[in-house]
Amino acid sequence: MSQLLPVADALAQVLARARPTGETQEVTLMEALGRFLAEDVRSAVAVPGEDNSAMDGYALRACDATGPLAVTQRIAAGSVGTPLAPGTAARIFTGAPVPPGADAVVMQEDCEEQDGQLVIRGEVHPGQHVRPRGQDIAEGATILHRGRRLRPQDLGVLASAGRDSVRVYRPLRVAVLSTGDELVEPGAAEPGPGQLYNSNRYTLAALLRGLGLEVVDGGIVPDDASATAEALQQAAGSADCIITSGGVSVGEEDHVKEQVERLGQLELWKLAIKPGKPLAFGRVGSTPFIGLPGNPSSVFVTFCLIARPFLLQLQGSLEPEPPQLRATARFSTQRPGGRQEYLRVTVSGTSAGLEAAPFPNQSSGVLSSVSASNALAVIPPGTVVAEGDPVQVLLLDLLSG
Ligand code: AMP
Ligand code: MG
Repeated sequence: MSQLLPVADALAQVLARARPTGETQEVTLMEALGRFLAEDVRSAVAVPGEDNSAMDGYALRACDATGPLAVTQRIAAGSVGTPLAPGTAARIFTGAPVPPGADAVVMQEDCEEQDGQLVIRGEVHPGQHVRPRGQDIAEGATILHRGRRLRPQDLGVLASAGRDSVRVYRPLRVAVLSTGDELVEPGAAEPGPGQLYNSNRYTLAALLRGLGLEVVDGGIVPDDASATAEALQQAAGSADCIITSGGVSVGEEDHVKEQVERLGQLELWKLAIKPGKPLAFGRVGSTPFIGLPGNPSSVFVTFCLIARPFLLQLQGSLEPEPPQLRATARFSTQRPGGRQEYLRVTVSGTSAGLEAAPFPNQSSGVLSSVSASNALAVIPPGTVVAEGDPVQVLLLDLLSG
């Protein structure tokens, strides 16, 4: 297990172990934002339900558009017209159903009505400015698939099809343990010599909440074998997954890995990733366990690259991996590395496309590198990047929400 595992292999192994709980619940649309669909949703209705007007104007037969037409009816949104006699037109407003017989709408700016007679300027084509029945959603069509994380526009689509509730997966409960004798909580007394504020707890809790998951806050765990074991066991009993930070490296004060081996099984340890090498994965009893490194930037990167896809799949997502974009490197690297590196960069859109410029200090202890950046640039092991080379980038906004 001393060999460093490539990131892609680690991710594949981790995802192979992420099986959703299958526990579902029905929620109203108002409660459904950010939840993961547990059903394929089919629409019982067509949207729109009938041909309707896309414009304020006049409904008519396209073939009648040459001569002046008598305006014989008025149809506003929410009302229904009568069959349109040949050679006549109906005053119509946006969203109102096109009357039987009419096959086109002329916008009011393109015609003139005088004394009940309509004169049309320009040509009229069949179907013009008519929104046909089912143009948005066909009756019986599957509108959203199981595994979809519901976004505001998805809720709108569900509502447009008449749904007021959906079946979603129960949100996972994820326990967060911050290990380290040196940690003090912000808001508590100033850190004494050798102490520092616990930042990982806040980064991790917010990352989890951003994914719609419930956080079980396990607080700070001292660097002590029995305290670590106790905290892990308690977390295993109260959560669907345990995430720890720190204590998975090779020092004598790193107790997490050893206690996981004792209470369950360590399945992976040490990835060919920079930052974040000491990442551990396994289970405590039967509860999945992800041991993130302690360094704050490593926590962010390994959460996004390994923990996030695992949790998303466990939560029911069918697309747990984030999309990557291509940008032009506004930097160069000196020599090929043995690990896949995730540089904290700022991606900006230029007339030449996306460009990625790195934060000057890439140390894993410098959390400002993540805070000041908006993306991670992926540098595969064994490669050297020259200024102007294409690089793959992961946008942080797509990782932290
Ligand atoms: P460790 O892996 O436990 O040796 O931790 C590596 C580094 O991360 C050390 O410098 C720790 O002080 C730091 N660290 C660990 N946990 C936290 C935390 N929760 N917040 C901020 N820094 C941390
Ligand atoms: Mg530690």
